[in-house]
Amino acid sequence: MTMHVARDGIELCTDCMFRAVNGDLPSDTTPERDAEIDAGLESLGPHLVPSFDTETGEGYEAFTWRRCDCCGSKLGGSRYEFAVLALGPAPEPRGYAPGEAAAIVAAWKNR
Ligand SMILES: [Zn+2]
Repeated sequence: MTMHVARDGIELCTDCMFRAVNGDLPSDTTPERDAEIDAGLESLGPHLVPSFDTETGEGYEAFTWRRCDCCGSKLGGSRYEFAVLALGPAPEPRGYAPGEAAAIVAAWKNR
């Protein structure tokens, strides 16, 4: 089965990261907060995968005020990068044949 990255650079707060990775909700949580996290994860879909690496620090930011892409939290804290995969091969990029782009520009200039 082929899958490709449909969307990357999705930043999750610590609460959402733990829920996405382990299924754990924060211990000091409220039902409203749980619902917020789960609604966010639901909207991101079932193919959300971690793309951060805590060993290299890639995709991980220790502290930022950027909004969590999952629950929408604007609280300062860590952000962890995730990606969303989609079924099937990656869509073909819209490429130009050799010389095609130059011909388009030339035609546009000569209007
Ligand atoms: Zn969050």
